[in-house]
Amino acid sequence: MDKKELLDDLKKKALQDDSLPLKSGATNLVFGVGNPDAEILCVGEGAGYWEDQKAEPFVGNAGMLLNRLLASINIKREEVYITNMVLHRPPENRDPLPEEIKAYQVYVDGIIEIIKPKVILTLGRFSMGKFLPGVFISSVHGKPREMRWKGRKITVVPMYHPAAALRNGDVMQKIKNDFLDLVPILAKINQEKDDKIEEEKEKEVEQTSLF
Ligand code: URA
Repeated sequence: MDKKELLDDLKKKALQDDSLPLKSGATNLVFGVGNPDAEILCVGEGAGYWEDQKAEPFVGNAGMLLNRLLASINIKREEVYITNMVLHRPPENRDPLPEEIKAYQVYVDGIIEIIKPKVILTLGRFSMGKFLPGVFISSVHGKPREMRWKGRKITVVPMYHPAAALRNGDVMQKIKNDFLDLVPILAKINQEKDDKIEEEKEKEVEQTSLF
């Protein structure tokens, strides 16, 4: 199965999962959207009103800002994959509870395992807490952190939540700068990838010349 089929399969399981704690109050499952082969995975918090209506993450005002921030570094929304920590809208847009985050974890981890992103942009404190527990967004925003995720190397970049930027001009300036600072971070990751491919090629040539 390719990544799209695997994601469809996982989504089907989530749709049929009646144990999900926020399901009864939601209109739709908001699973994820974007490129199954994305190198960048954006993980937000949970659906709001419009996401719940349209069954797609980040389609309201925060989503429009996310699209603009991506566009500011020449990345189209369709190139990345976008999901949330909880896949149904919490009532009245309240924060998701720890037990709710835990209940959806199997699907969020499943998405990460299928996509195998090189970079995870955490949007807000809930997804940041998944990868960088105990840190403060004010001290780590925009700073890349390399880590192993289920045996694979990933770079996590904690970002402010776009909704917070819409409420506060200072945060808006910071999130804009943090996105611009992603350019050299992404270039370095891609360079490492190219170097690795070159190394593999050289190894292959060495091996064939041995025989
Ligand atoms: N905020 C989020 O965290 N996720 C969405 O999908 C929309 C708004």
